[in-house]
Amino acid sequence: MIEGVPSVLNLTEIAEREKEEFGKRVYEVIKELGAERITFCMQCGACASICPLARVGFEWFNKKLIKALLLGLKEELLDDPTPWACVACNRCTEVCPRDVSPFEVMFAMRRLMVEEFAIPTLAIEALRSLYEHGHAVYMTGREARKKVGLPEKPPSTDSDEKALEDLRKILKETKLASLGLIPME
Ligand code: SF4
Ligand code: SF4
Repeated sequence: MIEGVPSVLNLTEIAEREKEEFGKRVYEVIKELGAERITFCMQCGACASICPLARVGFEWFNKKLIKALLLGLKEELLDDPTPWACVACNRCTEVCPRDVSPFEVMFAMRRLMVEEFAIPTLAIEALRSLYEHGHAVYMTGREARKKVGLPEKPPSTDSDEKALEDLRKILKETKLASLGLIPME
C-alpha cells in the first residue's frame, strides 16, 4: 500500500466531490458575468420562446441550460455544443421577467467548457476563423466580390490590420490560448 493513498477508491464520493466543485465554479463564473440571479429563474419559458437555438432543435437552450445547471448535470452539459451556437442576440435577457440574464448564463457555460477542455469541433473552427480573420463565421466568396468590383476582403476586422492585431492580443490573453487548440503566433 502506498502511504497517503487509500486502498479502496470510493468513485461515488469522488464524482460527488467533483460535481460539488463544478457547482461552485459555475456560480463563480456566472456571478463574474453578472447573471447571479440564476436562482430566480421560474422556468416560465419566455426566453425559450424567442431563442433561435430552441427553434432549430439545439438540446440545451437557455431555459433548459439554467435548469440543468441548477440540477448540477455536469456531464450532460459538457457533452453538448449548444452554448457555442448562441448567436448573442440577447433577446432572452430582454424578455426575462425575473432579470436572470440567460444570455450571460449561456456565455458562462462557454467559459466553463473551455476550462474543462470540452470544446466541440465546430467551435474550434469558428475560433480559428475569429483569430485569423476577425469573424467567427467567415464569409466565403472572395472571388465573387472581385467579380462585381468589390475589394477582396470586406470592410471589417479582416481588412483592418490594427483591429485584427488588437483582437489577437485579446484572444492571446484568454484561457483558450493556454489550451493550444489554435495556433496563435
Ligand atoms: S425567461 Fe427568465 S425566468 Fe423565464 S425561463 Fe427564461 S430565464 Fe427563467
Ligand atoms: S442570446 Fe443566445 S440564448 Fe439568448 S435568445 Fe439569443 S441565441 Fe438564444
